[in-house]
Amino acid sequence: MSLYVHFPYCQSKCRYCDFNSYAWTGQNMEAYVDAVLQEARSVAKELLPQTVFIGGGTPSLLSPQLLDRLLRGLADISGFVHSSKETTLEANPESFSREKASLAKDLGITRISLGIQSLRQEVLQAYDRVHDPEQALKALDAAQEVGFAHCNADLIFAFPGQNPEHWWQDLHTVLASGIDHLSAYELSYEPGTALTRLNQAGRWPAENPDHCQALFEGTRQACHQAGFGGYEVSNFAKSGAACLHNLVYWRSHSYVGLGAGAHSWYQGNRVQNLPSPEDYLATIQNRGQAIQEKQRPSPGTLLFEILMMGLRLPHEGVNLDRAEKLTELDALEYFGDPLSSLLDRKWLCLETGSQKERYLRATETGFLLLDEILLQLLPDDSNSPARKAQ
Ligand code: SF4
Repeated sequence: MSLYVHFPYCQSKCRYCDFNSYAWTGQNMEAYVDAVLQEARSVAKELLPQTVFIGGGTPSLLSPQLLDRLLRGLADISGFVHSSKETTLEANPESFSREKASLAKDLGITRISLGIQSLRQEVLQAYDRVHDPEQALKALDAAQEVGFAHCNADLIFAFPGQNPEHWWQDLHTVLASGIDHLSAYELSYEPGTALTRLNQAGRWPAENPDHCQALFEGTRQACHQAGFGGYEVSNFAKSGAACLHNLVYWRSHSYVGLGAGAHSWYQGNRVQNLPSPEDYLATIQNRGQAIQEKQRPSPGTLLFEILMMGLRLPHEGVNLDRAEKLTELDALEYFGDPLSSLLDRKWLCLETGSQKERYLRATETGFLLLDEILLQLLPDDSNSPARKAQ
């Protein structure tokens, strides 16, 4: 079992962001922290999580006092300091000082994940980010100076019309900054974001898809050359530095989520909390929990979700025997002809693990065509065996 804690506030809302995050305009952060701890007492008491991720939002926006209160409280309730192999704090450069880094380390944080996104002022401004390139470099230095062995940087590529040289320079600077993990995402146009509205109004043209693909492939190559292996579509790590918490999601292992809009997955149930921080706070204060929805996915849906997550891991893929234990469905039988055809075309392959378990993974060709593979596996015919089993 792993533990995720969501902190929903940010200094301002970035244009491309569709996360459950809100510009902080004086909302009571102390009350929010207390609500999370109250929820933790209900659902994470003595959880002894294997990994912890404090994400958002911008958790580094918490004052040192509130960060202390949150982490000490979580340690007392869940026991994470003794059990967790990796405890990550997400931070943004404008709210991450050397002092805060040092406090986080003293309170049990073992890994920092920094939202750098770009080292170009014009790009950061266009995204409505509040930090500048100098603050980004200082934040990377602060994590090193305080002695975090594990540090991730997030970058976004495919800013429309950007001189590609600027992207390659940023990428090399960040890879050489002492981090051991990089998440590189293509700029995406999610429904409801300010960026998508600009795009739809013709005021923000998206980058050409062929150019995006070339940037993606070039980024994988540059990371590989710098000693960062690509272990997931957008994630690259030095040896032994893969993010254990995110692997929990990709391997469909269990986790408990605390905070507004947080998701949980355990005992066959998917649970989602109320997304609005105000609703979350009021409901926790009344009832100790703030569940918006609890669902038990059908075996077919669950099997598809397990494949969708696991195929993102190019070296590992999906453990089909474990998937069968969770769903009581054999993927080869369930997906039938579409899966056979993907195996014949060598977009997918089957392998045997060290314990003789069967793994399904995307080949080098298939890895570049994951969306297409999933579309082919997504049952769309109500008479198909896959649809019937759902
Ligand atoms: S800082 Fe992160 S979570 Fe907050 S608005 Fe920007 S992208 Fe979203």
